[in-house]
Amino acid sequence: MNAPEPTAAALEPIAEALPAPRRSRQARAVWGSRVVTIGGDAPVRVQSMTNTDTVDVIGTAIQVKELAQAGSELVRITVNTPEAADAVPHIRDQLDRMGIDVPLIGDFHYNGHRLLSEHPACAQALSKYRINPGNVGKGDKRDRQFAQMVEAAVRWDKCVRIGVNWGSLDQELLAALMDENAARAQPWAAQQVMYQALVQSALGSAAFAREIGLAADQILISCKVSGVRDLIAVYRALSKRCDYALHLGLTEAGMGTKGTVASAAALSVLLQEGIGDTIRVSLTPAPGEARTQEVVVALEILQSLGFRSFNPSVTACPGCGRTTSTTFQELAQQIDAFLRAQMPVWKARYPGVETLKVAVMGCIVNGPGESKHADIGISLPGTGEAPAAPVFIDGQKATTLRGSGIVDEFHRIVEDYVERRFGAGATH
Ligand code: SF4
Repeated sequence: MNAPEPTAAALEPIAEALPAPRRSRQARAVWGSRVVTIGGDAPVRVQSMTNTDTVDVIGTAIQVKELAQAGSELVRITVNTPEAADAVPHIRDQLDRMGIDVPLIGDFHYNGHRLLSEHPACAQALSKYRINPGNVGKGDKRDRQFAQMVEAAVRWDKCVRIGVNWGSLDQELLAALMDENAARAQPWAAQQVMYQALVQSALGSAAFAREIGLAADQILISCKVSGVRDLIAVYRALSKRCDYALHLGLTEAGMGTKGTVASAAALSVLLQEGIGDTIRVSLTPAPGEARTQEVVVALEILQSLGFRSFNPSVTACPGCGRTTSTTFQELAQQIDAFLRAQMPVWKARYPGVETLKVAVMGCIVNGPGESKHADIGISLPGTGEAPAAPVFIDGQKATTLRGSGIVDEFHRIVEDYVERRFGAGATH
């Protein structure tokens, strides 16, 4: 079949897929020892949550430190009992002593009103409160207890995330909307009623918080669901109906590949549309897996979309029948691990090093081309090719490596390049 003639439209420049401008106002800054801005022009922030018992001050402080060092800019901790509330200021002190200035968010359900009023040191030590309107009480207690929590935020000048979750949706509101729907001449689908209940619960609670005295820039909103398309639908509606800063995340995303892919799919669509100011990837860790994996995934999502750079990126081909050995896979993995291991020191010593692009390719088909697109690239020999690995620096072939010491030599070349390009005496 003949290819169609190119049309005039096909010859026009192709527009870049740039993200839409952010749609939310900037929230008031939250701080640990350091100020973190959220929303508006601030970068999309990464959050995470501990899974330690908050009463365990040292264990919790260590996990917060690990999450912060992995790249989490805000860390949430459970505050569920008087003992946990008493532990919070000690966790803050411990973190300050360790030089970890990450803001702490308190996660409250059921008894948050009592904990925040009866434990002022906890209310003060936290940088932000998360309130779930579905879990603040029933009937006439609901408004009173919600108001108590908001009053604590006003008193201590804290931001509040009104965090609705469809696993703990306000049942009274849902029942009222179901009744209203049943009375319609043409009732909506149940899913539509659920979407409305989530959004109304969040925005109704925000309006009530404003009446109590919380400023608009002290309010962030989340409406978390576990289905990718449900999340996209709910956040699109939310962002049309308000300009509060939005915390974005798929709740109960699940484990491993499933949780990672589902989170990336949902968050990518929304972030690209300018929706979302902070993100969390709610992964269930596999037994023995580090809690920090959820932070690694969140950073990768933002870096893959081109929103932020955190670590040098390694482009590697998938390999195919042209590579009969695993050498290039091992090299790609070793280079990636090497770059990540250097980052804690490099970040301070070499400003901008996180934008470095490295390519590790398996054969001559795409190897030289892809390596030239990277700052520094290596093209390994495929099956039947001469046992030589050309290295490209800034698009130019710089040298060819041979023999068993390729990995170490390539590491040295990368280190020299980083020093030259990002070090104190860098010329470009
Ligand atoms: S670069 Fe070579 S080895 Fe890698 S996927 Fe392409 S053809 Fe296969």
